[in-house]
Amino acid sequence: MTIMRAARTLAVLLFAAVAFGASAQTPAIATAQASTEKMNTFVTALMSKMTLDEKIGQLNLPGAGDITTGQAGSTNIAKKIEEGKVGGLFNIKSVAKIKEVQRIAVEKSRLRIPLIFGMDVIHGYETVFPIPLGLSCSWDMEAVEKSARVAAIEASADGICWTFSPMVDIARDPRWGRIAEGSGEDAYLGSQIAKAMVKGYQEDYSRNTDIMACVKHFALYGAAEAGRDYNTTDMSYTRMFNEYLPPYKAAVDAGVGSVMASFNDVNGIPATANRFLQNDVLRKKWGFKGFDVTDYTGINELVPHGMGDVQTVAALALQAGIDMDMVSEAFLNTLKTSLQQGKVTQAEIDQACRRVLEAKYKLGLFNNPYKYCDEKRAATEIFTPEHRATARKIAADCFVLLKNQNGVLPLKKGGTIALIGPLADNKENMPGTWSVAADFTKSVSLLQGLKDVAGEGTKIVYSRGSNLDADSLFEERAGMFGKSLNRDHRPAEAIRDEAVAAARQADVIVAALGESAEMTGESSSRSNIEIPQTQQDLLQALLKTGKPVVLVLFTGRPLAIKWENDQVPAILDVWFGGSEAGHAIGDVLFGAVNPSGKLSTTWPQNVGQVPLYYNHMNTGRPLESPWFQKFRSNYLDVSNDPVYPFGYGLSYTHFSYGDLSLSSTSLKGNQTLTATVTVTNDGALAGKETVQLYIRDLVGSITRPVKELKGFKKISLNAGGSEKVSFTITPGDLKFYNNDLKYDWESGDFEIMVGPNSRDVKSVKINWIK
Ligand code: BGC
Repeated sequence: MTIMRAARTLAVLLFAAVAFGASAQTPAIATAQASTEKMNTFVTALMSKMTLDEKIGQLNLPGAGDITTGQAGSTNIAKKIEEGKVGGLFNIKSVAKIKEVQRIAVEKSRLRIPLIFGMDVIHGYETVFPIPLGLSCSWDMEAVEKSARVAAIEASADGICWTFSPMVDIARDPRWGRIAEGSGEDAYLGSQIAKAMVKGYQEDYSRNTDIMACVKHFALYGAAEAGRDYNTTDMSYTRMFNEYLPPYKAAVDAGVGSVMASFNDVNGIPATANRFLQNDVLRKKWGFKGFDVTDYTGINELVPHGMGDVQTVAALALQAGIDMDMVSEAFLNTLKTSLQQGKVTQAEIDQACRRVLEAKYKLGLFNNPYKYCDEKRAATEIFTPEHRATARKIAADCFVLLKNQNGVLPLKKGGTIALIGPLADNKENMPGTWSVAADFTKSVSLLQGLKDVAGEGTKIVYSRGSNLDADSLFEERAGMFGKSLNRDHRPAEAIRDEAVAAARQADVIVAALGESAEMTGESSSRSNIEIPQTQQDLLQALLKTGKPVVLVLFTGRPLAIKWENDQVPAILDVWFGGSEAGHAIGDVLFGAVNPSGKLSTTWPQNVGQVPLYYNHMNTGRPLESPWFQKFRSNYLDVSNDPVYPFGYGLSYTHFSYGDLSLSSTSLKGNQTLTATVTVTNDGALAGKETVQLYIRDLVGSITRPVKELKGFKKISLNAGGSEKVSFTITPGDLKFYNNDLKYDWESGDFEIMVGPNSRDVKSVKINWIK
C-alpha cells in the first residue's frame, strides 16, 4: 500500500462520514449533539482557568501501588494530587481509600478536578469469571456481557470507574502468555465479544454501576514475534485490517470510552509513538472520540526501542495521539520544556487535556466526584451469592470437552474417586491470571468443589501425585504474585507412588494437571507448550493402573497434548474458571451441566507447527491429503493437522447435522442468501450446540483465507429434538480490505460452510455478482 493510496482511502471515508452526519437528524442524534455541546462548553470554561502545569497534570496517570502490575512507579502521590499533577490513579483498592484520595483532589487541589480511578478488572472483580480465553469458548454473548456487567457492578461499588478491559488482541501463537487474556484467534468472534464486553461495562454512564471500558492493547500486541512478550510485530496492511484490527474497531463502534496503546513495535514504529495507528486509523478512520492512554511505562519504553531520549519520545507519543501517560511521568516531566522549545504545541497539549476531562465529564465525576464511592454498595454488592452463582453457571459453559471415549464422563455418584494432581487442592490457582481484585482464599478448589457437588455417598480420596514441574521454576513465578503452590519436597517417585496407591483403591481417577495460573498472562511466554514432564510421568503411571482416567486440564493457552489425546480416555479443558471454578467443574464432571464450550483457538500437535490457525491462506502448493506429499506445503515430521481445530468441543450428547440448504446458489447485488441446516440431538441428554457458519471467497484480488467464521448460533436441544438453524448472509459478509485498503466485496464464487467446528463442515458453492 502506498501512502498516497492510504491517504486517498482515508479521504473518501472521511467524506462519507461527514456526508452521512449531515443527513436527516433523528431526535436521538439531536439530544446527543446537545449534550456534547454542553460538555464542550463546560470543558472549555474549565480549561480557560487551567495553567499549563495543571493541563499537563491531567495527562499523568501514576499507579497507587496497592496492586503490582509492573515496575514501581511514582512517589509522593498525595502531594502531587494537591499540586494538580495527577489526572487519575490506578491499582488502588477499596472504596475507603479511593474516597480519601478523591477528597484530596476535590478539596485540596486548586481547581478541584476529580480523579479517574482505573484498575485491571479483566474477568471479574472479586467475583472472578473464567479467564477471557475461557470465556470466549462459551460462544455465548449474553454470558460474556453478563460477566462484564457483574464486574462493573462490583468494581463501581468499590470506587473504580475505569477498567483496562476488554483485551481484544488476536493471538495465533500459544507461546505468548497473554493469549489467556484475549478471545483467541478469530477476528469475527473477537469482535462480537469486544462489543458485548463494552456494553456490559458501560451501557449507560448515568448509572453509578457502569464504568468506562478501555480496549487494549492497540495494536497487534498478540502478533509478537516468536510469542515472546513485548516483542516486535511486523505485518502487511491487508492482514492488519482484515485479521487483527476488527475487534478493536468493534469496541470503538460500540462506543468504548478509552483505548490503551500497546507496548510493541508495529512495522518499525512502536505503537505508543505510532501516529498511523493512534491517530489516522483510530480517530480519523474509525471516528474514536474518547481518550488514549499508554500502557504501563509505555512512553519510557520508547527509549530502549530506540526512538530518542525521554523528552523526545514524550513529544512523539503526544503527537501520535496519546492523551494519558501511565506511570512514565514523561509528560509531566518534559512537556512544558518541549512546549517552550517549540517541540510540541499548546494545541496538542490542550487536545489531550480536553479528552481526559471529557472522560471525567461523561462519567459524571464533575457532578459528583464520589459517584462511585458508596460504602453501602461496597458492603452489599461485591462477591454476593448471586454473583457467585452467575460465575459458576458461566464457568461451566466455558469448559471444553476435548475427548470422552466410552462415555467415561459424566461421572456417576457413589463409589470412590481418586482426585490426583498438583492443581487439585489449590484455591489460589483457580481465579487465573489478572484477577487482581480477588481474595484468593475465597475461591473454591477442585477438591472442595467435587466434594460439594458429589455430596455424601461418594468417597473422594486426594493425593498430590507430583509437583507442578521438576524444578521449581513455575512455582517461583507464582510466588511473585503471593500465590503458593505448596511444593512437596520429597522425591518425585515418592509423591507419585503415594498417588498411584490411592488411585488403585478408586473406581475412576480424576487427574488435575496442566498449568498454574501464573504460567500464562503477562510476561509468561513459554517455548515449550506441553504439560510439564513430571506431570506427564504421573499421568502415565495413573494410566498404567488400568482405571479410567479423566484429565481435568488447567491451562491459559492451547497446549500441545497429542500424547494425552492419544492415551487418556476423557479430557475436560477447564482453563482457569474463576472464584467458583471448583463447583463448576464438579457440575460438569457429574453431569449437572452438559459441557458446551467450543475452542476459540487451534490446538497444535507440537510447538513447531505454531502459528497454526484455521483461517490461513491456501498457498500455491496446498497439501492434498494424505500427508506426506513431496513439493507440497507440509512438514516431514508432523502433519498439518491440529489436535483440535478451532470451534471444536464435544458434549455428553451427540448432535448430527443434516444437509446444508441454500435459498439460492446464484445471487446478484444486494440480494440476501439464507443458509439452513437441521441440527438433531440424537443422543440421550439435553445439550447445547454452537452451529458455525464459515465462508470462503474462492477468487479475490488478494489471496483469501480457506475459510472465515461469519456467524454462529448457540442452540439448546432436548434429547431427540431438532432445530432448523438459519443464517442470513448479505454482501456485507463478503467484504474485506483489498490491497488499496478499500473495504468491499468482489463478484465471484464462494463456498458456504456450516458445521460444529471449523473442520467438519458441510459446504455448498455459490456465485454472487455485483
Ligand atoms: C499491562 C496492561 C495493564 C497495565 C496496568 C500492563 O503491564 O500490559 O494490560 O492494563 O499493566 O496494570
